[in-house]
Amino acid sequence: MELVIDTLSKDIRYVEFPVGINKTYLDNVCYELDRETDTLTICSEGNFYSSLKKRAPDLINRFGLRKINILKKLSLFLSVVLFIPLILKIVSGDPASLLPLVSISGSLMFFVLASYLSEIENYCNIFRCKNCGRDFAYEEIKRPFVKIVSTYNKYEKTITSYLKCRYCNDEYIRTEIARQNSKSRSKKTDKNRKTCKGCGKDYSLVEYRYPDAHLEYHNIFRTIRHYKCVHCGYVEVRIKDDHIAINRV
Ligand SMILES: [Zn+2]
Ligand SMILES: [Zn+2]
Repeated sequence: MELVIDTLSKDIRYVEFPVGINKTYLDNVCYELDRETDTLTICSEGNFYSSLKKRAPDLINRFGLRKINILKKLSLFLSVVLFIPLILKIVSGDPASLLPLVSISGSLMFFVLASYLSEIENYCNIFRCKNCGRDFAYEEIKRPFVKIVSTYNKYEKTITSYLKCRYCNDEYIRTEIARQNSKSRSKKTDKNRKTCKGCGKDYSLVEYRYPDAHLEYHNIFRTIRHYKCVHCGYVEVRIKDDHIAINRV
């Protein structure tokens, strides 16, 4: 048996900031650019936790929070362990073997499982009422507010949820930092120059900083690339979603 990672489909969005425009909306998402600091802020309504609403209580009732936690740590451990043969292969300089592929697939599979279990665990903690302490007590009274801030050095995503307990009516506004990545390199990048849509000059649109790349959901890998025209100040942001699936062959 072999595990294969497939990219099922790609979904690319271009967000354009012509000179003088610092704020734009696309599919109900607000993109705002601070030209002084090159900070990009993305605000949108998030999704309700509905996808886990039924499964999380089922899984917690069946296995208990402690077992879910152990399984999560085990998956993370296996994900790291399976990555080691790949590193050894690279070091020994023998790329011909199939081992790296199996190693990557296995590592990624356990990583995906660990993030799913972590979501379940998280769901359980979020929906326990802060006032009366009952499990799965909160209901979301409106869609969460999601804010992403991307700078040269950092990518930060915060989610604000609006919750109300169905037993004691306690209302709770919860803000969590859902993701915080420090970019390992903050120097400028200057390859794959493109034609600027603002002034039309060839090779003037430059990718001016390293992209933000991360697993957005358990099946979507998102890459955000930042471009700027060296002549006219036109800015473009390219957001690519790779929908991934892991199959057994
Ligand atoms: Zn309560
Ligand atoms: Zn230009």
